Amino acid sequence: MVKIFNTMSGAKEDLPHKDELHLFVCGPTVYDFSHLGHARTYLAFDIITRYLRSRGKKVEYLQNITDIDDKIIERSKTQKISWKRLARDFEKAYKADMKSLGITAVSIYARATDFIPEIVAQVRTLIAKKNAYEIPGDGWYFDLTTFPDYGKLSHRTAAQANDSMSRIDASDKKRNAGDFCLWKFSKKDEPSWKTELGTGRPGWHIEDTAISEKFFGPQYDLHGGAVDLKFPHHEAEIAQQESASGKKPFVRIWMHAGFLLINGEKMSKSLGNFTTIRDFLNRHNADTLRMMIASHHYRSPINYTDELAEQAKASLQRIAHFRARLRLIRKAGTISPLVENGILQAKEKFTKSMDDDFNTPDALAALFELMNSLETSFWNLTRPEARALEAFYEEMLALLGFSAQKAPSVPREIAQKAKEREAFRIHKQFIQSDAIRKELDALGYSIEDTPAGPLVLRK
Ligand SMILES: [Zn+2]
Repeated sequence: MVKIFNTMSGAKEDLPHKDELHLFVCGPTVYDFSHLGHARTYLAFDIITRYLRSRGKKVEYLQNITDIDDKIIERSKTQKISWKRLARDFEKAYKADMKSLGITAVSIYARATDFIPEIVAQVRTLIAKKNAYEIPGDGWYFDLTTFPDYGKLSHRTAAQANDSMSRIDASDKKRNAGDFCLWKFSKKDEPSWKTELGTGRPGWHIEDTAISEKFFGPQYDLHGGAVDLKFPHHEAEIAQQESASGKKPFVRIWMHAGFLLINGEKMSKSLGNFTTIRDFLNRHNADTLRMMIASHHYRSPINYTDELAEQAKASLQRIAHFRARLRLIRKAGTISPLVENGILQAKEKFTKSMDDDFNTPDALAALFELMNSLETSFWNLTRPEARALEAFYEEMLALLGFSAQKAPSVPREIAQKAKEREAFRIHKQFIQSDAIRKELDALGYSIEDTPAGPLVLRK
């Protein structure tokens, strides 16, 4: 039974009892390369979705792409290209980054500007219901006094709403400080759509609800995003959709992924600690990032340091080493109750941890504990036991989305050299065997002499 922490209620709740689940996660604004903070959120929801699917749920995972907004317009002006060129280029870069990270769980990407009719229709509904008003020459705004529930997710009030306003929502003619823009009339030379609302472009919050209503209807199961979107963005989504449909709750369970800090500080261009996914992948591989993310609970903050990346890499190497040694085992025999129970217990702990609000650190701990428990008697393992263990680790790592699901193999010429070295070693020709060891070392491989023969590993 999967339980999920619902930001709305502040408690863990049962996953809705349905075979098919609708999940919406706020996507990127495509005006620059995605950074490690984005990677954190999207890797977390990739793992969560993979897990739900492994538990037999059909998960429809929808993500919007904000391809029109102030930042896009500004950046395209400074770069002297069209907003569309800029947005399409960074959308492509975003999808390429997701692919490099092995993020494959998203079912549908929906671009804001492909849903202008749906956005206009939702704003018109809000106008008809008197939730929205016009500021002539500026745009259509949501009137917060018409939605007394505002603040129920973040426990903040409309009066506090002004501190996280974006520029598009700024106007001194608003009825209330926290009122936000639904549709912005365009100024000269700005991108615009000619609609019944007037010539202009959508506000930020309205695209999500117009898109999610189009695919999922006015109510759905799970909404995710980074924790900093809780206010005002997610409050605005609730205000829009619940006002438009009259149905509550808009979303059954609200999920928020924690912050990612860099060396204890918030990532920002001005601090010079802005780390893109591409920067990271120039220095480490995608599995290292996934391990870093998975070793934290998705709601906890992560403090990214070089040391943390090294720790993640070391964890992956321990697993790779363990699996490589399993493949050397040739001893005939059967599967002992010790190993059989060990695998069963590890699997049980893994599942129990993941069922408990996707506790990936505890799930990973189950994998390491089983490895530790077998350490002292490792070379007594039989071939069938080694096979069962190998299958278990392959399954669990695949479930979490790691790419190195198969134990890495070594090229034939390297294996051949290792064999030659072993022959020298057996005949105590140590000068020759050491020479080969050094040669392999220079090629990036290490040799470990085990009771089952030499183990060659990529360093
Ligand atoms: Zn959003």
